[in-house]
Amino acid sequence: MMPEWNNVDRWLMGNAWVGSQIREHVSQLCDVIGVRWAGTPAERLAAEYVAGELETLSLSHSTIESFGLRSWKCGRASIELIEDDGRSLDARPCMFCPSINVVGELVDVGFGMPDEVAMIRVDCLQGKIVLIDADHEPFSEPVTFQHRLQSLADAGVVAAITPSAVGGRRTADFSVSDWRDNDPYKVPLPVVQTSREDGARMREGGNVTVCVDARQVEGESWNALGELNGSEWPDESLVLSAHHDTTTDSFGANDNAAGVAVLLETARLLSGLRQETGFRPGRTIRFVSFGAEEQVLQGSNAYVARHHGTEPPPRLMINLDELAAGHMKGVVLQFPELRSLVQSQLESMNEGLSCHVLSQLDASGDMFPFSRRGIPSAILWRWRFVGRHPDVAFGHTSADTPDKLRIRELKEYAGYLARLLLRLSHVSPEDWPKNRLDVNEIHRRLETERGTVFRTM
Ligand SMILES: [Zn+2]
Repeated sequence: MMPEWNNVDRWLMGNAWVGSQIREHVSQLCDVIGVRWAGTPAERLAAEYVAGELETLSLSHSTIESFGLRSWKCGRASIELIEDDGRSLDARPCMFCPSINVVGELVDVGFGMPDEVAMIRVDCLQGKIVLIDADHEPFSEPVTFQHRLQSLADAGVVAAITPSAVGGRRTADFSVSDWRDNDPYKVPLPVVQTSREDGARMREGGNVTVCVDARQVEGESWNALGELNGSEWPDESLVLSAHHDTTTDSFGANDNAAGVAVLLETARLLSGLRQETGFRPGRTIRFVSFGAEEQVLQGSNAYVARHHGTEPPPRLMINLDELAAGHMKGVVLQFPELRSLVQSQLESMNEGLSCHVLSQLDASGDMFPFSRRGIPSAILWRWRFVGRHPDVAFGHTSADTPDKLRIRELKEYAGYLARLLLRLSHVSPEDWPKNRLDVNEIHRRLETERGTVFRTM
């Protein structure tokens, strides 16, 4: 039976605004539990918290699923300028950086673009430590940071130091791997970030000592999930997901307590609607919070491997990440097949939301393992074309705290997502576009896109 959508929308938006638990969820994750680097007891607490909340909302099969984790532990990292009496400079290694202890002359390679490196005689780079800007050099076709590092490693460079782009002596956790690669853990060259201010000191040149004490470790991480059963086609599903883990020292408010809080709120709204009005989703809606997103998407990879060999794949998965970057402007699909279907549902909501298709496979989030398997996936349009809130500049640092979030916008996300998912859950299987994604074609696309620079959302 199709509902009176006006009444449903009114109920969902009203309850998104009144009775919201967003603040509580964020404070529980960021303030009470704190840093949630995957594989730590705190990350497990976060997964248990999400599963517990889904259970409280009377979702079925609320549980946590563990998976084997390939993690990384960093003890100490330092950069010392020898001419400056061994003064210690700000230092933070890239994630999965191996242990190093090197002394060498500093060479400033600018952005490390091919033409810049060509100006330095290649034999002059042997055994050197380079100072390199990780941003894109704005005058040329962009080359990924990873490729620039690889060519420096090929020229005999032993380590790289990269100054942070933001000021205020801040450094942030960062990855130098391309997650589209066959070996996404590979670090082409040991890289240590320094603050913008200490980077400026090093422009003078000199000799430096770079030390990183780190190793890869085996561990365990956890995904949390629960579902609302569909009334019409319970074996068909839609997935809404987020990740609850953080980088090594971040409180992860925007990245990604915001996404988890909106996930739980969307579940609360749809479960409350069912309890109060009896109206249920047509197909099953599964809510999943992944672990280890910050460590090469291991949670979503483990989830897809576990569930989508045997179970039928979801009709669509939507991933929530960094929602404090801007308010919800629409949905961005990875493949064009569902564009008109999603656009028509958004239009029926009458909120000015639109659907777009990203022309590249986006490996920067938990939708990627789904896309790679040919499962239709989407992210939310927050800032592209229109700019983003300045608060996102604190990502992957201990300054990513709850004061950076805009609770009003997060409430709106939950209301909109509940309405969209409910509508999509009631589109009958006959009206759902038939075209199946071809996994071989996706792999071919991935081969051609590997090494290209990513557009971000
Ligand atoms: Zn994230």
